[in-house]
Amino acid sequence: MAGPMRHSLIGASGAKRWLTCPASVPETQKLIDAGWEGSTSPAAERGTAVHEIGEMCVLQGRDPQSFAGEYVNDILVDQDMVAGAEAYVAEVEALRAAHPEMEVKIEEELDLSFDIGEGAFGTADIALVEPFSTGYLRDYKNGRTLVEASIPAESLIHDQDILGGRTSVANPQLAYYGLGLASRYSLDSIDAGIIQPNAPHDEGLVRSYFIDEQELITWAMVFQAGVARTKAKRPIFHPTEDNCHFCPVKGNCPGRNRKREADLQGMFQPIGEEKSASISVRKKMPTKTPSAKELTPRQLAQIVTEGPKMITYIQDLISYAEEFAIKMGRVNEMPGMKVIKGRKGSRQWVSPSDAIARMKRLGMSEDQIFGKKILSPTQVQKTSPDRYCDLEDIITQPDGKLKLVPESAKGDAVDVEMFKPIPENEQ
Ligand code: SF4
Repeated sequence: MAGPMRHSLIGASGAKRWLTCPASVPETQKLIDAGWEGSTSPAAERGTAVHEIGEMCVLQGRDPQSFAGEYVNDILVDQDMVAGAEAYVAEVEALRAAHPEMEVKIEEELDLSFDIGEGAFGTADIALVEPFSTGYLRDYKNGRTLVEASIPAESLIHDQDILGGRTSVANPQLAYYGLGLASRYSLDSIDAGIIQPNAPHDEGLVRSYFIDEQELITWAMVFQAGVARTKAKRPIFHPTEDNCHFCPVKGNCPGRNRKREADLQGMFQPIGEEKSASISVRKKMPTKTPSAKELTPRQLAQIVTEGPKMITYIQDLISYAEEFAIKMGRVNEMPGMKVIKGRKGSRQWVSPSDAIARMKRLGMSEDQIFGKKILSPTQVQKTSPDRYCDLEDIITQPDGKLKLVPESAKGDAVDVEMFKPIPENEQ
């Protein structure tokens, strides 16, 4: 059998998306057919590099700190990346110490075509396995967006019948890897966890969820039903912030566009026509752009609520236009456009170790070569957590700025009367 492709359209990291928005699979396939080759970001590349450092440390016994100042995948390894790799290695060591009889698997490639469907495969970061027992699975996340090991079952909107009244279930990505591991190594159940050093969580860097045998069986049914939905003649779109954020088709998605139109209903409704309900968005667009002072309080509230979606929409369109022009090579079809080289990137040493040696030969001092910069309290908490409590009395943290948000947003409402300026005659 041919080796797995790098990304599966019904893969683990996008599982929540394709389970709830089945149309995202055929829509992504259309993009690929049109020449799209996938995209990445600096944050994703840093995360991949930290995974690789963690993997090398576990397999070769290297200290994460030994990578500081080196380049991994053309990325200069800084202390944040080292701290991430340390969290990765520490968790492997803790699991290994607690379960010395188990076999450790790092970056284990899993084929789930039998359990889920053709084209289902993925790579589990860290696993400890022993047939007919509970396996241990850990997924490293380098990002700052908090990821939980479990999710509310009600968020799997199409699978309520299969889930049979459960209130919470495993994070679908963990469930996906867990299913693959259980199938390959005859595991009874999975202790599935997330390692996330860059997003504070009440439970610390690692949190886990226990997937019992019955839930593993349930997940196989959920995934298979999900695959079937992606193959429907008219698969359902389910645009949510969560689903669309990393979806490759978000810049040109009919389902998302329809939802956006519905969300934007009334946002640019001309002044004085607020009460006329069911007119189309097109008719509601203003003939002139109103100034902020011309808007009513209700319209201002709508701008604050819906405006960010519009900004995201425009950014998505620009991203798609860039992909269309550059990655698909179709700039010539875009009137009045050309592709140029942006500003050069920042200068970097070809080899940091050679550069250090040369600067020393040139008589430069350690200070001139390395400089000295005090670590921030957050960095000290990461590098020396045991010393941090002795420093807390010399740390200051300004209050957050007042922010206008929709009522549904997190956070307690503040009494704005306190912040009103005092009239001069009352001072
Ligand atoms: S952009 Fe959103 S709605 Fe459209 S296919 Fe992707 S996830 Fe679904």
